[in-house]
Amino acid sequence: MTPLLQVQHLSKAFGGNQAVNDVSFDLKAGEMLALIGPNGAGKSTTFHLINGQLAPDAGNVLLNGNSILGLAPHALSRLGVSRTFQMAQTFASLTVLENVQMALLSADGLDFSLWRKAAPYRRTDALHLLTQVQLDSQAQRPCHALAYGDVKRLELAMSLANQPRLLLMDEPTAGMSPQERQALMNLIRGLVDTQGLAVLFTEHSMDVVFEHAHRILVMARGGLIAQRSEERR
Ligand code: ADP
Ligand code: MG
Repeated sequence: MTPLLQVQHLSKAFGGNQAVNDVSFDLKAGEMLALIGPNGAGKSTTFHLINGQLAPDAGNVLLNGNSILGLAPHALSRLGVSRTFQMAQTFASLTVLENVQMALLSADGLDFSLWRKAAPYRRTDALHLLTQVQLDSQAQRPCHALAYGDVKRLELAMSLANQPRLLLMDEPTAGMSPQERQALMNLIRGLVDTQGLAVLFTEHSMDVVFEHAHRILVMARGGLIAQRSEERR
């Protein structure tokens, strides 16, 4: 069977700095793959090459066997590729529920400027997404009142709005307490196990990596230097 994601011989240099050097790996549906390595190893650059923020010097990225190089973010989103929303992309003055409704508007290709007229927009679906990340009880709170870990869960709900098959998460638990980390990763694992979501993530806490990743790729100085499967899972 064709893997959901195929990364083939990706390379990217910034001036004389070979940030990513001939990186290849596959990712299957229902798999959680951790990309680890020291700062500057090329992890974020690899993410940017996969999600289209950067164009590679060489190599290819395939989704279900088809190249997704050069596709715009909305085209990738339609194909089921999602990345976690960053903090800045939650609207602090809106409620938690309204933020998810905004993400649904965006997933449907509609403009945020429609928002004022669209307050009832897909309310039930938005609540369902909040239930998935266990934030439904806070649906009516303004985002600025949320604890940091809850903001991250809201960002996860927003990135699930386009029903992704592939979720790309570069340091999803940065800045979280150990408890918040475990809670978020448990939620994501649940989605992987129940919905066959594929997840590529970076993470500094080795506890989190060993507990949640099915497979681990180790990167250093732009290249993949090791790979291991967690047999016990
Ligand atoms: P990691 O995420 O593993 O910490 P990065 O992918 O961010 O590593 O960085 C890999 C290398 O590429 C580093 O040497 C970094 O300084 C360099 N780099 C990353 N992004 C850029 C950029 N936009 N311009 C120039 N150099 C960059
Ligand atoms: Mg990084």
